[in-house]
Amino acid sequence: MGNPNPSHSRGWPKTGEQLRELGYHSGSPATCKGCGKPILWASTPNGKMMPLTRLSSTLWQPHWIDCQAREQFKKRKEKSV
Ligand SMILES: [Zn+2]
Repeated sequence: MGNPNPSHSRGWPKTGEQLRELGYHSGSPATCKGCGKPILWASTPNGKMMPLTRLSSTLWQPHWIDCQAREQFKKRKEKSV
């Protein structure tokens, strides 16, 4: 459907309920330092932190999918892995 990041967006967006069932825990609201959008840090089932963008009252997706400064996430990911 013209999505520029099919591998990143697979399975997303999810509802808050789905996230809880998968083992995600919501963390602190924050502001993306790259693009200035409001985000929510959540812990993943693997114990990592990931920034989420709120799409609607119930839908969330990883912030790097829509972040205008998503290069920063790529860099951080490569470093930590
Ligand atoms: Zn951003």
